[in-house]
Amino acid sequence: MTAIDAQIDMDTSLVDVIGKKSADLLAAQLEIATVGDLVRHYPRRYVDRGKLTDIAGLELGEHATVVAEVEQATLRPMRSRRGNLLAVVIRDDRGGRLDCTFFNGHRLKNLIVPGTRALFAGKVGTFNKKLQLTHPQFEPLDDEESIRPFISVYPATGKLSSWIIARCVRQVLDVLDDPTDPLPETLRRREGLAELGRALRRIHVPETEADIHAAKHRLVWDEALGVQLALALRRQATVSRPAPACPPVPGGLLDAFDAMLPFTLTDGQRAVGAEVSADLSRDHPMNRLVQGDVGAGKTIVALRAMLQVVDGGQQAAMLAPTEVLAAQHARSLRTMLGGLGRAGELGAAELATKVTLLTGSLGAKARRAALLEAQSGEAGIVVGTHALIQDHVGFADLGLVVVDEQHRFGVEQRDALRGRGERAPHMLVMTATPIPRTVAMTVYGDLEVSTLSELPRGRSPVATTVVPLAEKPQWFERVWRRVREEVAAGHQAYVVFPRVGGGDKAADLDPDADLVDLDTPDEGADAEEAGRRAPLAVLDIAPKLTEGALEGLRLGILHGKLPPDEKDAVMRAFEAAELDVLLATTVIEVGVDVPNATAMVILDADRFGLSQLHQLRGRVGRGSAPGVCLLVTDVPEGTTTRERLDAVASTTDGFELSRIDLELRREGDVLGALQSGRRSGLRLLSLLRHEDVIRKAQVYATDIVGHDPGLVEHPGLAALVGETVGDEERAAYLDKV
Ligand code: ADP
Ligand code: MG
Repeated sequence: MTAIDAQIDMDTSLVDVIGKKSADLLAAQLEIATVGDLVRHYPRRYVDRGKLTDIAGLELGEHATVVAEVEQATLRPMRSRRGNLLAVVIRDDRGGRLDCTFFNGHRLKNLIVPGTRALFAGKVGTFNKKLQLTHPQFEPLDDEESIRPFISVYPATGKLSSWIIARCVRQVLDVLDDPTDPLPETLRRREGLAELGRALRRIHVPETEADIHAAKHRLVWDEALGVQLALALRRQATVSRPAPACPPVPGGLLDAFDAMLPFTLTDGQRAVGAEVSADLSRDHPMNRLVQGDVGAGKTIVALRAMLQVVDGGQQAAMLAPTEVLAAQHARSLRTMLGGLGRAGELGAAELATKVTLLTGSLGAKARRAALLEAQSGEAGIVVGTHALIQDHVGFADLGLVVVDEQHRFGVEQRDALRGRGERAPHMLVMTATPIPRTVAMTVYGDLEVSTLSELPRGRSPVATTVVPLAEKPQWFERVWRRVREEVAAGHQAYVVFPRVGGGDKAADLDPDADLVDLDTPDEGADAEEAGRRAPLAVLDIAPKLTEGALEGLRLGILHGKLPPDEKDAVMRAFEAAELDVLLATTVIEVGVDVPNATAMVILDADRFGLSQLHQLRGRVGRGSAPGVCLLVTDVPEGTTTRERLDAVASTTDGFELSRIDLELRREGDVLGALQSGRRSGLRLLSLLRHEDVIRKAQVYATDIVGHDPGLVEHPGLAALVGETVGDEERAAYLDKV
């Protein structure tokens, strides 16, 4: 087949357009196989010819990019080593001359010959008192490109240079018919977006700076809309399933509970509670995310939802990420419910239900009993870890799943929890890691979002300080003195370690603490081999503290490798103030609630993610006494890692932190969680920079899917979804409609 007589579109194989040699190179180096792959391989940057420096104006030490022609090129043996230098003189259009020296002379001598026009970029140095570029970056320009106002610079590899890519792109654009634009014309007109064909041409071959902006803006829209359509389809697929309607029952368990609440709900708790209550009353599943900073009082919101569901004759399951947290949730739910949670026991209220804990640590007999309570419907509320409930439990009538501490949980896992049956339970997801709006609209885009923005009254401030051992080693002593002061004042303290330790490296990661977490730095026991000191381990340091700095205090040790009943016993002892200091790993990160704990020391704080630190800090300042949080690190000043710690110290506003987090973290990690395909369809979209587009795209997507649930009238948009989030995801929501 030749390119001339065949229709060339985005799916055409490149071999048919640019020949086998170039096509093979693109396939091998960049996995670019089709015309579409290539035209979606956008320039990384542009060199504006109008802004290029003349050679005559170059200054020593500056980083310069010049377009010039090779005037002379001479191969010379190097003085001190084997091999040859290529000594080159280049000349720009204004007649300025400059020396350039290239190593690997032999390899370059056929590429850099007199008459070659090219882009040379590098730092201006001197040799023999003359300015020169030493081994500059070098991109040959063909005649056409060298007269264009902008030179497009592509993501390239050692074996495939930018200019070859540019040439292939131009060859393709020359013969490509403009693709059918997937965006509805009304949308395009209202948002002032360029047509797809034009945008694709302009992003590769711009005439003006405005061309570049307009092209990018249009292509960003494609990506944002692709993502939002995928999410709208997801929402649609979930909410169209039937769910048990549980309208409030006057005089029921929830009313009884509200009547005995020892405090008044915050306005936020009341408002979110009303939203949740309305959702639960419908016969389609609720899918709601409640976000509220650490200590905002999310548990009550969840409990009230669970009681409404129990009033409706259904069961509720509450899932926690760790056994420690599940056990603690069960305990605090029972405490809050009092007689209302002791069905079957002596002195229970008539309306009472039963809270059943289901974790891996239960003995066989207790476990059978718990499973039976869930299956028979005797347990109105079942609390457990994600894994356990997902795998083994049959419920009589599961009406609501509450997922606590969502930041460890992905979109797929949420889908799994909704079950495969026709009927879906309502779902309430709670996160203490506030999410910037754009992230909420993407990663959590399958959920409606409610926010608890105020903390209950009577919370105490937490003062956070970075303890920089690199600059102030003597402060280490003060850390322990501070802990002793808190204990002497009748309070308790946490000391957190990044690692469990105790020898065996392979088994060193904390099985409980190391759940999938978007922002846990990927450093375990291997750090030592990588040249960095291994992170401090609780089992290694605890004996030293016991005999040294914390001698005489009652210390407990908590980590994920302890047998579960021991974990529980330690946690109970700490809650009962039988321990002064808890030496722990991040198992205490989420949800643990001991108001008397006022001090938190985080050792090797640099090893933790930003939101993890915020979570950890949230364990103190939960009572009436002010809290203190000390972030101990030996990472020196002036590094991004220290910036991260300073950010945590500078604000206790979780929203502000999540924004900083997003800035410091690679966005790809966030968006990556959305994609299942081989190749990322998201090249330009930024959660930071494109909030406005993402917000509008969400509105359009919801509207389009509302009118055309299978996207049958919008085949171009259906294809866009596949391009953006991968064909598997597309198939999951489109092909079954
Ligand atoms: P989080 O949102 O971090 O899960 P919790 O639900 O654990 O917070 O609540 C933290 C503490 O605040 C608990 O001890 C809880 O009983 C208490 N609390 C919750 N709501 C209120 C309120 N409206 N007034 C006073 N205290 C409250
Ligand atoms: Mg909580």
